[in-house]
Amino acid sequence: MERVYVGMGSNLADPAEQLREAIQALAHLPQTRLSGVSAFYLSDSLLPGQPRYTNAVAALDTALEPLALLDALQAVENGQGRERLERWGPRTLDLDILLFGDHLIDVPRLKVPHYHMQARAFVLYPLAELAPGITLADGRKLDDLLAQCPFQGLERLAG
Ligand code: ATP
Ligand code: MG
Ligand code: MG
Repeated sequence: MERVYVGMGSNLADPAEQLREAIQALAHLPQTRLSGVSAFYLSDSLLPGQPRYTNAVAALDTALEPLALLDALQAVENGQGRERLERWGPRTLDLDILLFGDHLIDVPRLKVPHYHMQARAFVLYPLAELAPGITLADGRKLDDLLAQCPFQGLERLAG
């Protein structure tokens, strides 16, 4: 089993409900156990002019291979009406693999650690709830990434 962290985001069609549905789907993935979910957060979109995002991070323990997990996550995205119209466009659901055990993955379909996580408060802060003090497979320390990442107006939701 490998410990995997999945970043979740939605800014369309009742985002919090999209995340709750996605969490249920993650809990039912084959050969996988859902072991934790962060609080939900509100964040500004990477591109201007979109609704704010609701974000969270989930911790999974899985026996799936990385690309099999990516396939499964993309099936969940598609099942919740994800359309890919423009890069970083508004979406019902985005599920990104942030970390996959101690693996460093660099193939066309999958880069792990996620290539942009160090710049995203909406990834780093929820991840820190589940994995405080973690060191990434590439040797970077989460605490150092947090210290260098502006808060970017991130808002933690209660409950
Ligand atoms: P960003 O990657 O900047 O967060 P995005 O999540 O909106 O943007 P998507 O449209 O969801 O991008 O995914 C585009 C492609 O990224 C996917 O088809 C997938 O093959 C690839 N990809 C590469 N690394 C990862 C990863 N760590 N997790 C999920 N998808 C990845
Ligand atoms: Mg993404
Ligand atoms: Mg994505």
